[in-house]
Amino acid sequence: MPRSTVLDTGQCPCGGTFASRLITVPLNALGPGGALEDVPESRCGDCGTRVYQAALLRRIESIMRGDTRGSIAGATT
Ligand SMILES: [Zn+2]
Repeated sequence: MPRSTVLDTGQCPCGGTFASRLITVPLNALGPGGALEDVPESRCGDCGTRVYQAALLRRIESIMRGDTRGSIAGATT
């Protein structure tokens, strides 16, 4: 997963507006072919900057440490 600026919501520094969508993030820590599905991603319509919720990044860090319990669902609060 490419390194990205972390912003929860709002406006891109370039002045563009973020549009949210759900993506699938490949994550080898979950095993061969593993991935997190329905991950919320915001993408700037002007410059293409992608941002992810801080809760998601914490979840991925947790998985990297070996905690594969649960799912991304409910991790956004
Ligand atoms: Zn932008």
